Amino acid sequence: MNKINIAIDGLSGCGKSSTAKSVAKSLHYKFIDTGAMYRAVTLYFLQQKVDLSSAESVGKALGEISIDFAFNPESQKNETILNEQNVENEIRKMYVSENVSATSAIKAVRIAMVAQQQEMGKDKGVVMDGRDIGSVVFPDAELKVYMTASSEVRAKRRQEELTLKGEDVDLQEIIENLESRDHQDSTRKESPLIKVADAVEIDTSELRFEDQVQKVLDLAKDRIAKA
Ligand code: C5P
Repeated sequence: MNKINIAIDGLSGCGKSSTAKSVAKSLHYKFIDTGAMYRAVTLYFLQQKVDLSSAESVGKALGEISIDFAFNPESQKNETILNEQNVENEIRKMYVSENVSATSAIKAVRIAMVAQQQEMGKDKGVVMDGRDIGSVVFPDAELKVYMTASSEVRAKRRQEELTLKGEDVDLQEIIENLESRDHQDSTRKESPLIKVADAVEIDTSELRFEDQVQKVLDLAKDRIAKA
């Protein structure tokens, strides 16, 4: 059967990654969380105290970074590896969320990440989630989905995830972080978050997780049949 690429873009925290992961599992496709890649770069820049306004420092730091995903049999998840260290938990913490939009707005950072993402999807059979997948990374993706949900719903879901990981964060702080990231990600000069004309919009505010996955799977099966 022909394979397709599926691009899932949308607002922060509306379930793109969990939906993409579940869709990929059902289709036996590769799942790639591009937000994790930008988070890993952000973590490295914070650790190395990289001056974001210096093109030289940013370029040097990017040259030192290698990002991979590795399957962890214990968690049954693909986890993010930065320079051979598992950073999956660290990159989800609030201090990384607060800095990621500034790092991901830098052109050199985007060029490096997009090149790696395009390589990962060159043989098709990939479900990739992010902000610029349908617009920049795979403008020819056979299926493009744009996901949204209200800030309150997104923040509550994010708070539950953080609580499960032992991080106690106030709901208002999460709402502010999500809205500030949406604003920065949609208004930046380089590859802003946009809903492309050929994307199917799914508002997940009132949807159960299984239903949002099913919606994407139905669309995917239709596109695979036509590919
Ligand atoms: O998807 P997630 O919320 O983990 O993404 C973290 C941040 O990474 C986003 O707020 C955005 O600034 C950046 N990002 C991006 N382009 C992507 C994926 C994520 O700019 N394709």
